[in-house]
Amino acid sequence: MEQGYEAVIGLEVHVQLRTRTKMFCACPNAYGGEPNRRTCPICLGLPGALPTLNREAVAFVLRLGEALGAEIAPQSAFYRKQYFYADLPKGYQITQGPVAVVMGGSLEVPGDPAVRGGAGPIVARIERAHLEEDAGKSSHGAEPDRSWVDLNRAGVPLVEIVGAPDLRSPQEASDYFKALHQLVTWIGICDGNMEEGSLRCDANVSVRKVGATAFGVRAEVKNLNSFRFVKQALAFEIQRHIRVLESGGTLLPETRGFDPASGETHAHRSKEGAVDYRTFPEPDLPPLRITPSEVSQARAALPELPAARRVRLLGFGLGPDEVATLLQSRTFADYFDALARACGDPKAACSWMLGEVSRLLNAEGGSLEAFGVCPEALGELIRLVLDRKLGLPAAKEIVLPAMRAGEGSAAEIVLRKGLAQVQDRGAVVEAVKAVLAAHPDQVGQIRAGKESLKGFLVGQVMKAGKGKLDARTVNEVLAEELTR
Ligand code: ADP
Ligand code: MG
Ligand code: ZN
Repeated sequence: MEQGYEAVIGLEVHVQLRTRTKMFCACPNAYGGEPNRRTCPICLGLPGALPTLNREAVAFVLRLGEALGAEIAPQSAFYRKQYFYADLPKGYQITQGPVAVVMGGSLEVPGDPAVRGGAGPIVARIERAHLEEDAGKSSHGAEPDRSWVDLNRAGVPLVEIVGAPDLRSPQEASDYFKALHQLVTWIGICDGNMEEGSLRCDANVSVRKVGATAFGVRAEVKNLNSFRFVKQALAFEIQRHIRVLESGGTLLPETRGFDPASGETHAHRSKEGAVDYRTFPEPDLPPLRITPSEVSQARAALPELPAARRVRLLGFGLGPDEVATLLQSRTFADYFDALARACGDPKAACSWMLGEVSRLLNAEGGSLEAFGVCPEALGELIRLVLDRKLGLPAAKEIVLPAMRAGEGSAAEIVLRKGLAQVQDRGAVVEAVKAVLAAHPDQVGQIRAGKESLKGFLVGQVMKAGKGKLDARTVNEVLAEELTR
């Protein structure tokens, strides 16, 4: 970084839990819909209404804690964080106090070689993850002098994951956010929909001279809901901090907002005279007690995690970028695993997933759930190609579309459409001999050294074989016959 500065970054990530109901009431937890419909006296904060803790949210946060390798607090408590805002009907947010249900833990993130002096993953520590509730949603600006409030979101369960200040560049921060997104969707506690705000983060950043041990003064950029915004906002902030310090100015701790249109941040309010939340223990909720059996249940519910899956897939001899793409979602990764098992060849399964399958999903804007072919069925098709019983072009262009149209299994379609490749080498030899005899000029030129004409002859043989000859065998036989 210029002028010998180093950035120090820590993210606070808010994750909406995909529980059936809200955090403290029975209202459905869902996105959108007619405003202010999914509300009740509890999430509206009407006097006398009493909250009841959603145990599904607790099970989810325990799963997260186990996935992060964190400590689970046997007892933690809820607190009221009080402030006034129109989208906060109770006048306070229920959150957790000094002890969070999840304490510590860590996440492996790709290190940024630009600031680490070398490639390789880093371990980003997690400070804590606590349960809290979301506020409603306000919208401003549609009409002058008017704002709208939708309380459907009020009381939706959140877990706030507070990261240690272990990140050193906007790239690392964005990769950390991505790794968390991958983890919470992988373990099934969040739908991961960033546009709908299911995952949002506050990015804390300060700068210091390289070699300094004390932290600089931090700014907190609120409410970033995309990986790109995290990167842009932090890059802007780092430059701003350096500029202020270099010009002899002083930085104040502050909260800032990010404007995606300009790529700039702007001051919200200073943290010096920050609001006093007058936080105090929530009298209407008992302490949150976690039993050892709840913890072991959460651990048992965990699937193989992305980091372990990555190591296993690398063991198949796949490249790091290929593996990263296969792990884009748990559905995709699980489909790959089943496909590799079904066809018995992980490399072939990988090339189909990243090739034809991805191409079709992208072109159709569809998901694997709607792909229409299960991994076992696709595995059978790949096996036919690997065994040279079916040509690759026919597999992609004819058999797969027919399978998706529900016309039967790969083998049935190959049989019915007469696509089976000629197994008999003698037939290939005959076809090659016939083509060589029909093209004496070209054969002469190849023998005189014009190798490039071989492809033409292969094409002629394939054409004569109506796509039913195995291309590799044709090449082999042609080479043999030409050296006779
Ligand atoms: P709050 O934001 O509620 O005041 P904390 O003081 O615990 O809470 O800080 C929360 C976040 O700020 C953490 O993610 C932490 O990593 C990060 N952080 C703390 N100090 C710094 C700093 N000097 N520079 C960058 N990030 C920091
Ligand atoms: Mg904060
Ligand atoms: Zn409610």
